[in-house]
Order: sequence, then C-alpha cells, then structure tokens
Amino acid sequence: MSVQREMDEPIRYGDSAVTGGVSVFDERFDELFGYDGDDLGLSYAPEQSSFRLWAPTSEQAELVLYASWQGEPERVISMDRGTGGTWTASVTGDLEGKYYTYRVLIEGQWNEAVDPYARAVGVNGDRGAILDLRKTDPEGWSARMPAFGDPVDAVIYELHVMDYSIHPESGIRHKGLFAGLAESGTRGPGGILTGLDHIADLGVTHVQLLPVYDYATESVDETKLDLPHYNWGYDPKNYNVPEGSYATDPYEPASRIRELKELIQSLHDRGVRVIMDVVYNHVYDGYRVNFTKLVPGYYLRYKPDGSLANGSGCGNDCATERKMMSRFIADSVLYWAKEYKFDGFRFDLMGLMDVDTINEIRRRISAEIDPSILMIGEGWDLATELAPERQASQHNSEAIPLIGQFNDRFRDVVKGDIFLFDVKGFVSGGPVPKQEVMAGIAGGIPYAPGIHQFVQEPQQSVNYVECHDNHTLWDKLVLSAGEVTEAELRAMHRLATAMILLSQGIPFLHAGQEFMRTKNGVENSYKSPVEINRIDWERCAALQDEVAYVKKLIGLRRAHPAFRMRSAEEIRAKLVFEASPADVIAYTLRGHAGGDQAEHLLVIYSAVPGEVALPIPKLGSWQPLLGAESISALEDGKITISGIGVTVLAVL
Ligand code: CA
Repeated sequence: MSVQREMDEPIRYGDSAVTGGVSVFDERFDELFGYDGDDLGLSYAPEQSSFRLWAPTSEQAELVLYASWQGEPERVISMDRGTGGTWTASVTGDLEGKYYTYRVLIEGQWNEAVDPYARAVGVNGDRGAILDLRKTDPEGWSARMPAFGDPVDAVIYELHVMDYSIHPESGIRHKGLFAGLAESGTRGPGGILTGLDHIADLGVTHVQLLPVYDYATESVDETKLDLPHYNWGYDPKNYNVPEGSYATDPYEPASRIRELKELIQSLHDRGVRVIMDVVYNHVYDGYRVNFTKLVPGYYLRYKPDGSLANGSGCGNDCATERKMMSRFIADSVLYWAKEYKFDGFRFDLMGLMDVDTINEIRRRISAEIDPSILMIGEGWDLATELAPERQASQHNSEAIPLIGQFNDRFRDVVKGDIFLFDVKGFVSGGPVPKQEVMAGIAGGIPYAPGIHQFVQEPQQSVNYVECHDNHTLWDKLVLSAGEVTEAELRAMHRLATAMILLSQGIPFLHAGQEFMRTKNGVENSYKSPVEINRIDWERCAALQDEVAYVKKLIGLRRAHPAFRMRSAEEIRAKLVFEASPADVIAYTLRGHAGGDQAEHLLVIYSAVPGEVALPIPKLGSWQPLLGAESISALEDGKITISGIGVTVLAVL
C-alpha cells in the first residue's frame, strides 16, 4: 500500500526490512507483533525505573532522559529488543523529577515521541515526566464511591471545567481551574449558591466533565495562559494525563494530577459521581501524533486508496479494531477509573469505535473495578472504514447491551431538528409524530408497533434536549418558536426539561439548562471566547425560580421509581398512554410501577398555550404532585389544564 503524507516528506512505514516482509497494514501484523504483557510504559520505583515501548517497525530505539521540560538531553539510553515487538530499558537510581521521550529509527529516519502510556508530562505535554504517582494522591484519598444503583437512577449534568467558574461573579477564587470547581461555600450575585454548592444542591447524581485529558489545541498554549484561551478539548494529545491549562501550575507535572484528583474527591464528598468524556475515535493530526511517530500506519484507519478514513470529519479516525490500539484504549479507560476513581465514561463519536473494543472495556471495568460504572456514548452512524456490523452505534445496540447511547430522535422531536433551526418540536407546537415522542417517553424500547427507537432496554437510552453541541435549548426555542411571549418560551423550556427528567431511560442535562442557558445564538461554541461559553451566574441569580423548578423535577424523579423502571418488560406492563387531544400527551404509570409507593401516577405534557380538557382514567383519587397551578378543573374522569407545561398527579 502506498500512503503519502499530504504535506512535507513521505511517511516511512518500516514495513518490510524489520518485520520480515509483513506490512503494518496486514492483519497478520497483529498476530506476529501484538504484546500481551501489562507493563507497557514506565514502571517507576525509587530504586529503578523500567520502560517498555511497543514499536515493532523500528530498527533501533532509544530512551531519552531530560533534566527539564526544555533543553538538551541529559542521557540517551539504547533500548533492547523485547518480546512482541517491544523495546525495553531499565535505569537504576531515582529518576523522579526527570523527563523522558523515546526515539525510534524507521527506514533511516529518527522520530522522537512522547510515550503514549505516559502518566505525567511537562508543560504542553511535549515530554513525559517521571514522578511517584502516590505522592499526587490528595489527603484522605482512599475508597471509591459505593456501587451505584441502576443506570436509569442517574441524573447526568454535563459541564466544562473552565465555563463553570470563570465568570467574574462566580464567587470562586481559582477561576477556570480544576481547583475552582473543587471550592465549597462559594456564593454569587444575591448570595446564590455557585460552583460545587450549586451542583450538589440541584441533586444531580453524576457530573460529566468535558475533556480533562491533555489536549492539543494550539489556542490553549499552556505556557501562555495569561492570554485569552478557550477550547472544549476534543483533540487528545496525551491520553493518560490531565490537561495542563486547568492546573494551578502546568509546569509542575504533579499539579494537574493532584488537582484533578482533588476535584473528583470534592464531588465525591458531596455525593456526586464523575463521568469522564473520552475521545478515542480520532486524533488531532494523524501525522503529528505520537502514535504515528512510533508505529507509522498502525493506529489509524485507512481507505483502500491509502488515504485516511474520515468518519469523524477530522480526517484521522482511529483504528480501534486493531489489537494494540484496542488494548491501549481499554488500558487507558481502566487507568482513569482506577487511578482517578472516575465513576463513568462518555465515548465521543462512539459509532467510529468497534463493538469488540467497547464490550472489552465494559467487561474489564465490571470485572476489575465496579459493574456500576456508567458507560455511555454517541452511537452515530458515520462513514468510516469498518464493517457496519462492527460499529458501536445505534444500529448495533443489541451487540452493546450495557452501553447507553444518546437518543437524538427523542431530542429532535421534543425541541425540533437541531440542524433545521426554524423547525419546531413538540414543546413549541410543531407537527411532530406523536408516536415518536411516545417512544422517547417509554425509553426508546420496543413498546408497541410503531413505538420503538433503537434500544432494547431503558438503560441504553440517554435522554437529552441540550448538550455542549449545537444550540442550547433556549437558543433553539428563540430561533424556532415564532411569535411567542417570553413567558411562553420559558414554559416550553420547562416542559422540554421535564420530559427529559420524567421519561424512562437515563436523563442528561447540560450545565445551565436549569436557568435557560444561552450562548447568544452561537451554535458550536468550542472556538468562541469564554464570554460566550461561561456559566452566567447573574442569569442564574435572575432565574432562581427556574433552578428551583428543575431541582423539584430531579427530586420527583429520585423520589419515584416509577419514572425509572429498570426493564423494557416492566415499562410495557406499567406505562399506559392515555387518550389525549392534539399537542398533548398523557400517560399513566400504574400499579406501583418500579416499586413506587404511589399506586398510580399520571403525567400530562401539554404544548397547548390555552386551556385543554382530557379524560383521565378512573383509578382512584388523583392528587396533584407537580403543576397544581395549571389545573383549572379536576373531576372524576376528566381534567382541565391551562398553559404549556407538565402536570403530574398521583393516586397515593
Ligand atoms: Ca494541553
């Protein structure tokens, strides 16, 4: 296969001379050169440090030691050939405080790269750093969180580290940093709770952090953090190291590690678990990443013509199906779960990954750590070079039964298509197919003919109407709702959030959704200044009624297991859609569904601005639990409600 670099000099693959004629692109390569040991990377001890690098196509390999993150090498140590295509070196004496890289010789050309298994790095992640990880553990760092309940018991809240504290009115000292999100007792305008206190008060169970591994984004230069800088971070550079721009001292390798652990510990101390957003589906630059420098051609996915596969839209899909890439990903996830005590993982563009890798991660997490660790992902169908039946996407949900997948169909019928800005959804009175909304309410399971999304069980559907991507819910409603009052917009927003929090499946909120977050109409704000992205604590203070409403919804979900039934079978048996007029959906959760204390619950979603009457089943004495103010008449067998919103009643 001839693969040319699109710029500069051709890439040298080292196919033939070293590997006995077996090309790096050949499937036999994995059998001949895969390494199964568990000692890849650096094994540090004060007496001796050992290094193992997988680089089967190199003719020679060197370990390069440095005294600092910059400057010339201190020592260059020739590495020995080990088994399975690896190279090894051992250095006696204490290397703590040193930095290191590897050099590999491929077809006469030396490439220098950072160890993909590096667990610490210098500023900007250009050299591995050697330290004693035990010294990075915070005080009192010990047990994991206890096992979590069922995935449908989770309420996920997605946030970006910098967004959450950077606003001038956040009341947080360490603005934009891991340490800022770890601060307790912070107050904003009018004395409102901010930061960690706000999260704990809302009652969410899991915070999902946008990427916190070391990312490459050039606009976030860790040596120039006094200049404006911002990014979401979906471009991994060092997979097993935290991002330096969130640390109090990016030059001190232990700082970012300790401070991320302290943040996780602070959330755990408040009863909140933490999900890590991980990006193993593509790299930031297929030609400049450490993978390509060390084993050119191996880690990425290629089209038959030799060009790079582009399902990600970034032109460099990862070959997750190859043995050493697959195990690298699994090793990386397991490392974060063990070393940092993460409680869940969210796989970016998971549809580009292969089913076997995702299932192997699930198997190892459950066997080696805790089966209640959450795994969710974006199972989009993307055009990559992997057979459709091997893709970890919505159409293969049966093959990845223990993974939650974002339910974009429910999202789009509730709020309107995200790509067609002016299209309305159910909450804004759009002409959406009612059966599709009902399918989402039922958790996407095969509920009845025509009422089924892509899943088999409710744990597989992550329900959301807002995340970091695309317009916020508020901005989408502003664009699409037409001539409506501010009060009506707010009512639509509340209804959409209620539909997420009361439906079967796993609910997911975007930070600030609880006070109708706006990015002033900016759609994908990863490149926008922090002023667009930051959590606006002044808006939060002004909309405390909305915060209280979302808090109430979360409380209602957590108090009533009927909203989080654990099997499709039970949902089919206990959830009954009732007759309802246009733009209204009503359903009952009957017979102590999910073990609920209430005998029956009745949920009515109305997108009708005015008054509307509908029949209700005669199951007993219905008492309002939520939205009592919307009820204008309640009699035996009939209810009249007014205004856009949700009404919940119970027969206790
Ligand atoms: Ca970085």
